[in-house]
Amino acid sequence: MTESPTRHRLEALRRGLAESGAGGPDALLVTNADNRRYLSGFTGSAGTLLITAGAARLLTDFRYVEQAAGQAPDFEVVQVAGSAWPAVAGQLRELGVERLGFEAEDLTVDAFDQLKEAVAAAALLPTKGLVEALRQVKDSPEVDTIRRAVEIGDRAFEVVAAGLRPGVSEREVAWRLEVAMRELGADGLSFPIIVAAGPNGAMPHHRPSDRPIEAGEPVVIDMGCRLAGYCSDMTRTITVGAADARFWEIHEIVLRAQQTCIAGLKAGMSGTTGDALARDVIVAAGHGDHFGHGTGHGVGLAIHESPRLSPTAAGAATLPERTVVTVEPGIYLPGWGGIRIEDMVVVGQDRCLVLTTAHKSPVVGMGMG
Ligand code: ZN
Ligand code: ZN
Repeated sequence: MTESPTRHRLEALRRGLAESGAGGPDALLVTNADNRRYLSGFTGSAGTLLITAGAARLLTDFRYVEQAAGQAPDFEVVQVAGSAWPAVAGQLRELGVERLGFEAEDLTVDAFDQLKEAVAAAALLPTKGLVEALRQVKDSPEVDTIRRAVEIGDRAFEVVAAGLRPGVSEREVAWRLEVAMRELGADGLSFPIIVAAGPNGAMPHHRPSDRPIEAGEPVVIDMGCRLAGYCSDMTRTITVGAADARFWEIHEIVLRAQQTCIAGLKAGMSGTTGDALARDVIVAAGHGDHFGHGTGHGVGLAIHESPRLSPTAAGAATLPERTVVTVEPGIYLPGWGGIRIEDMVVVGQDRCLVLTTAHKSPVVGMGMG
């Protein structure tokens, strides 16, 4: 019989709590939905975890009790009616919790006020990133699921891109990609698909419009799906029909930056050093001012999670082995458009393993070959 992955996760979280020392929390209240799923296996949309050194309880309501019992074998399921906070207070008394850690980045001010009122006897201690730190490192089933999500996105992109013709709108392309991913087995999108043609591509997060795609202009397509809770994320920049000299010039720089970063990225380096691998290439080519976002981000149950490949403080942390990140440098020229190329990789001790296999030849559809 194999041990459940959540057992290891719970143990790792308890070690983290113990390491926070005498003044630290003796229990953690988990309200973030991705963290709840990661620690317990429970996929329902409502529930709160309470974890101490010796107890793991999942508080949820009538709708989810049966599902929770089946999905979360390492947790004792507690049925609550109405607001969860009085029930949390009751559990704290029962377990003798004196210092309750809560997820400061998740709990709303209103929820905090209600919790505080309900648990008057226990001290409330804000915590940040305790579970998120564990989620950075993916186990093999997680990597396998992510790889399957990536594969769906890759195949959907290739099928849809091959059929593109000038005149099709950004929205139509986004819809075809969504349908293709669902038909290939995706549970849904990991984020709204970006299709940004011509000058729209200068806005990294442009929303697809009715604008028709013209022959030869750059089209940024950023897409991903969700499978069994895990996300994929991929960007290609294409042209429908032949590209002009400027397209090839910018595309070559971005691709070189991306490949340089992938070749050099490894565990133990900071996210800022990882970012610089790509950024230095773009700066050297004279486009430093046209690359205004980080080089990459962690992907897992959330589409954007730790760690970050970033020149800012967000990139200060060290990249752990077996974390999954995107590598997605871009160059954006106002009035012309943008080029971004994004793959997902598993960071290893000496090198990283590229998960994305979608082709990077930019000219698609009519005029190909
Ligand atoms: Zn993306
Ligand atoms: Zn991304």
